[in-house]
Amino acid sequence: MINNNKLKDFTISDSDVNGVFYQAVQEVICSISPLLNSNEIYAKHSILDRLIIPDRIIKFRVNWIDDNQKIQVNTGIRVQFNNALGPYKGGLRFHQSVNEGILKFLGFEQILKNALTGLPIGGAKGGSDFNPKGKSDFEIMKFCSAFMTELHKYIGPRKDVPAGDIGVGTREIGYLFGEYKKITSTYDGVLTGKPHMFGGSFMRPEATGYGVVYFTQKMLELENKDSLKGKICTISGAGNVALHVIEKLLEIGAIPVSCSDSNGTIYDKRGVDLKLLKELKFEKRLSLEGYTLSHPESTFFPAYKYAEDSHAVWDIECYAAFPCATQNELTEVDAQTLITNGCVSVSEGANMPSTPEAISAFLTHNICFAPAKAANAGGVVVSEFEMSQNASMSRWSFEEVDNKLKDIMQKICIEVSQTAKEYGVEGNYVDGANIYGFKKVADAMIAEGI
Ligand code: NDP
Repeated sequence: MINNNKLKDFTISDSDVNGVFYQAVQEVICSISPLLNSNEIYAKHSILDRLIIPDRIIKFRVNWIDDNQKIQVNTGIRVQFNNALGPYKGGLRFHQSVNEGILKFLGFEQILKNALTGLPIGGAKGGSDFNPKGKSDFEIMKFCSAFMTELHKYIGPRKDVPAGDIGVGTREIGYLFGEYKKITSTYDGVLTGKPHMFGGSFMRPEATGYGVVYFTQKMLELENKDSLKGKICTISGAGNVALHVIEKLLEIGAIPVSCSDSNGTIYDKRGVDLKLLKELKFEKRLSLEGYTLSHPESTFFPAYKYAEDSHAVWDIECYAAFPCATQNELTEVDAQTLITNGCVSVSEGANMPSTPEAISAFLTHNICFAPAKAANAGGVVVSEFEMSQNASMSRWSFEEVDNKLKDIMQKICIEVSQTAKEYGVEGNYVDGANIYGFKKVADAMIAEGI
């Protein structure tokens, strides 16, 4: 499946060779080979060489003082990958695992994802190895202020507009915005995902999760499969994306029976108690384990009891699966279990949650597979809506944003499906998304010259 000869032609540094960045690039190169082979223009303009090297990577030290008056030091990074289609746009991730390779993978994926939306936004990603877990509100605020003290030099409403990701929600975006405003004496829409009271769009928190469900509904319709109504769905993660996938699934009459965090998985066969989930993970910021105290009929599967390549959440029988936690969380072993259990559809809410082997198994068994860069584009769609509202000093209603979001998610699904058909890989949404997104960015790069 992977064309290693082609890969050798590209300048990927040794440190990336075994990393997630390489994995993401490999998948795209593999998908777009037919396009490259039939169009010399992309080689003539060295588009791939130019696309896989970020425009720039900004790296900085972040000093902050914890509640014990101790100076803490973290690293901050912003990868400004490609702005052929518009200002750099992509989230910030605060997690102890963050490094340059992870942010390059996320930034690279973001370029094509943003292109799929049809909106004028380029691709970027950033973050820090700061671990927000167990930190007080005051410490989070101090870290965010220190992070922005450096980052503000490189961003702007027409230049680079960061948003949230793992570990960066409305609270963190609020603190980051407050610091930017203070340092620059401006009130620019320089971050998206802001609280609604100061410029945030309605529906930004819900957008990624709702968008995943809208995409899945359309994909099932196009592939002549049963709708999600009344069907068992499994979801991993218990963060922003997972929560809103569950919320939308409940609204449309599906039965979401699971969620998970880094400690383990909850299985509640009567359907996840959304109110309790919100209380545990968002209000109290606790482990999911506490769920069983209120629902003794549910089961908690501790993560430490499972081998690295198998996860309790994918052992549960389902019609549709929604991996919404993190990269490479769904392995080949998990994929085989899902297939054996009769799963019909897998939609990626997280970025690249399925390993290449898992994707290959899904495609071989004709599972409807919605890749992240298409399925989870709803977050960046509403982020762009927030940029538009900020620029025109206007406010759109919840219904207006929701309708526009649904419309764009359905369009992405149709265009990806049609592209797959056009290139002889009908039903392969991975290739469809990669070819469609690449063409948009590449054609813009050619038209803009070097
Ligand atoms: P959150 O920080 O809100 O939630 C992440 C969830 O995943 C938490 O429940 C966390 O558990 C769990 N998790 C993280 N790492 C692991 C791990 N190694 N093993 C098991 N569970 C883990 O993040 P989001 O919901 O915002 O993001 C989730 C995914 O969706 C990421 O891949 C992100 O890049 C992607 N995404 C997010 C968008 C958004 O709008 N937020 C937009 C597009 C993509 P715990 O609580 O224990 O930390």
